[in-house]
Amino acid sequence: MKRRHFIKNASLTGVGLAVGSTLINCDEATSKKLADEDVKAITDFKGFPMVIATWHVIDATAKAMEVLQAGGNALDAVEQGCRVEEANEKGQSVGKGGLPDRDGNVTLDACIMDKHGNCGAVVYLKDITHAVSVARQVMENTPHVMLAGEGAKQFAVSKGFEPENLLTEASKEAWGKWKIEAKYKPIINIENHDTIGMLAIDKNGDISGACTTSGLAYKLGGRVGDSPIIGSGLFVDNEIGAAVATGLGEEVVKTVGSFLVVELMRQGKSPQAACEEAISRIVNKPNSDYKNFQVGYIAVNKKGETGSYSIHQWFSMTKFQDGVNEQIQSNFFNKTENS
Ligand code: ASP
Repeated sequence: MKRRHFIKNASLTGVGLAVGSTLINCDEATSKKLADEDVKAITDFKGFPMVIATWHVIDATAKAMEVLQAGGNALDAVEQGCRVEEANEKGQSVGKGGLPDRDGNVTLDACIMDKHGNCGAVVYLKDITHAVSVARQVMENTPHVMLAGEGAKQFAVSKGFEPENLLTEASKEAWGKWKIEAKYKPIINIENHDTIGMLAIDKNGDISGACTTSGLAYKLGGRVGDSPIIGSGLFVDNEIGAAVATGLGEEVVKTVGSFLVVELMRQGKSPQAACEEAISRIVNKPNSDYKNFQVGYIAVNKKGETGSYSIHQWFSMTKFQDGVNEQIQSNFFNKTENS
């Protein structure tokens, strides 16, 4: 309760943020203009640093918080947090151990975006576990935003990433079972949607985000989803907030979902209301087939308020703030299903 009360104290938070950025960027003369009570507001504000992520990934958010508490920035935090899940072979939707496409190739998509609006992405990346770190290298060490396929892999290798086989025995076995029926349409259910999207706010109040996935299980070779597409799978605007998506990427791309959520927050909606509106744009399309796919969004605004919403039940967000690292079940649109 105390935490929620604190987060919702908009005027205090507003002061904290404004003052926070002033303190970082200003010279001593400017900082002296701060009233004592403003300085106290910053010191007392316990909401930052904070981190949220799609699904139940408390080890990943714990890693991100470790980085933040050691004084690291939000960009380092989201990269390090996502790497935890990329390395986790048990997670079959991200990094090593990701389920392959229908031809047995594990291909990764990832992107990252910083407080300045800089971004980097990789698509159809093979044989490199830490796609999110390659995306960061694209952002920081090339004049480009996105690298694909063989070029992305060669770039990664040139930066010291070690190629390795990402198809684990467990994922190979699952693919083998899928091949028995090998339905043309990808299997779309909630278990397949485990993209890790992470958003962090560091102690300075600056926001960054990242997103990493092996995409839809048993997708067509060459298919790329929303996750590495800036504005669809992820969007960060350090003035407003950030959002990240999971679920059937095609539907997210068609509505430019994460950008939409951030723009709705810019217009004054809370993160929760913005996520709900973005989902409603999908389900309210004429002839929407939403009963057969899942999409979920999480979002955070500059005050550290968060939201999450999905089409179907069982989407969740992990949130680490004020010392509490917890999984929070999302509210959802389709209340008619028996689940
Ligand atoms: N959004 C991802 C994609 O469409 C899938 C997921 O969330 O797991 O590639």
